[in-house]
Amino acid sequence: MSDRGWCSFARQHRGPGREGPFGYPAGARNQARPVIVVSHRMGGHKRTLDDDQWRHDNWVGVTFGVGRYKVGDIDQYCSVWDAHWGNGIAGAVPKYDRANVRLAALEKKGTWNPRPQYSPQAHSLDSGVMNLLNASGPCIEHEDATKDEPWPEPLVQNSIMVHQWIDEEFKREGWPFTWNADALVGHFQIDAVNRLSCPSYMGKYWPKARILASVKKEEEDMTIVACADSPHGFQNWALGSGNPRLIGSAAELTEAVKLFGPAKPISWGLLKTLGAT
Ligand SMILES: [Zn+2]
Repeated sequence: MSDRGWCSFARQHRGPGREGPFGYPAGARNQARPVIVVSHRMGGHKRTLDDDQWRHDNWVGVTFGVGRYKVGDIDQYCSVWDAHWGNGIAGAVPKYDRANVRLAALEKKGTWNPRPQYSPQAHSLDSGVMNLLNASGPCIEHEDATKDEPWPEPLVQNSIMVHQWIDEEFKREGWPFTWNADALVGHFQIDAVNRLSCPSYMGKYWPKARILASVKKEEEDMTIVACADSPHGFQNWALGSGNPRLIGSAAELTEAVKLFGPAKPISWGLLKTLGAT
């Protein structure tokens, strides 16, 4: 079985009967095209989420569960490259946070469909049979033990470890992803009706700044380059530690330039010697 998309230091729930429900239709793989990483809180204990039978019986399909009591208490229930079922329902379309640039861009790609089985105003943002919000970024569940209070340090550390691993996995795959404030989404920004306290009331105790700083640290020295004679048609790349990373869209380029400054011209020959293929 491929380790692609599976975190080496998480307890992995893999194989028939162990992975939670995921994919569209159920069990379909490799549909994720991450542009966001979404944080949640469990509203209960992690041992419940870790129970494969419970997730299956309750139709709970998420990517990661992180514990609040011990550093390293991290479980993974599906690959980050698989669409899960955890982010996806907006409680009311007008309250969807389209001030977040990435959520606004996703909204343009899909169609809102009513989901009255969840709540009267609930909608899913779909493209064909697929819920776009579930296919557009991993879903991290944080153990809160039903308390809305500052996160204990092990919970913060576990969340940071998972976000840093996601960053490494995106880089390993050559997946263009820029970390900024809009890349980190709280569930309350998707569903401000039924999930206003996820991952904390309006995000109050969600340590977003620390998480963001932990993933951006590696990118502080990033240089954006433009390669006019690239034979692949893709001109823009980010150079940092490791191989050059392709910047695949105009929106990503705009964000990358905002963070790291304007693109500097580079020749394909030089870029190739730096590791681009
Ligand atoms: Zn949530």
